[in-house]
Amino acid sequence: MQIHTKRGLKGLLKRHLVSIIIIIVAIGAAGGFLYWYNDTKNAEMDKMTLDALTANIKLDKTIADLKAKKAAELKAQQEAAAKAAADQAQTANSSTAATVDSSTCNASKTHNDPSSIDVVVNKKHCMQPVTYAPGDLVSVIDSKGSSYLLSAKAASSFKLMSDAATAAGQSFYLTSTYRSYSDQVSTYAYWVNTSGKAGADTYSARPGYSEHQTGLAFDVAATVNGTNYVLSDFNKTSQYTWLQAHAADYGFIQRYYAGYESITGYETEEWHYRYVGVTVAKDMQTKGIKTLEQYWNITGGDYY
Ligand SMILES: [Zn+2]
Repeated sequence: MQIHTKRGLKGLLKRHLVSIIIIIVAIGAAGGFLYWYNDTKNAEMDKMTLDALTANIKLDKTIADLKAKKAAELKAQQEAAAKAAADQAQTANSSTAATVDSSTCNASKTHNDPSSIDVVVNKKHCMQPVTYAPGDLVSVIDSKGSSYLLSAKAASSFKLMSDAATAAGQSFYLTSTYRSYSDQVSTYAYWVNTSGKAGADTYSARPGYSEHQTGLAFDVAATVNGTNYVLSDFNKTSQYTWLQAHAADYGFIQRYYAGYESITGYETEEWHYRYVGVTVAKDMQTKGIKTLEQYWNITGGDYY
């Protein structure tokens, strides 16, 4: 019985040898596949974890960048406020040494509040007070990334206009914005020493008479094919043409036009713009009125 069983087992092994080998190979292959599958799955999960970590790091960096940008903006605003305060202090100190005869400095009876966007400042009508400094100066960044001071009343509109011009391929940059009374005292005194009072009066505003002191006016220039078009060259640029068509949409006017010298008291200045608000700027454009003196019926021309 025992022998028979042994023989039976051997016979069985012999008969099924091929099947047994196939089963062993299949078990090995399945094991191998499972091992490979697990390994791949683990690697995939590792990659997903890494991706999630990378995304987190990127998010952290974006938050850090935003915080840094906000801090830089705040710093620029604080610097602008500090500069305005310093200018005001300097103005108070230098007012006694002013070269302006205050008896000839008359403010207009109307449109005479320098903190209002309807103020008219010209050679007949000075700023009141003559040492006026805007209390709302903020820093604006032009298309070249340079920082300048403007009254907050004009700053946001300037930024919108500057961005629109850049988007239209007509970017211009700032060359001068707010100028304090004390800036103008030293500038005017320098030119009086150089050319005498009559000479100085032909190209340098007396302190207290410059529209730049309101913080509502600025001068622009443009770079075309590597050449800077400043002051009287600016009107040769397509940027000037763009401003003629669009400045009013943002509340700005060209303040001094050719042919109106006896009314404004100044030669044509295609580079000098003044904020008056959208309503007035568009109304002047529609009616074809070129000067604030005519629009508000204020006297102008030369000094008294
Ligand atoms: Zn100007």
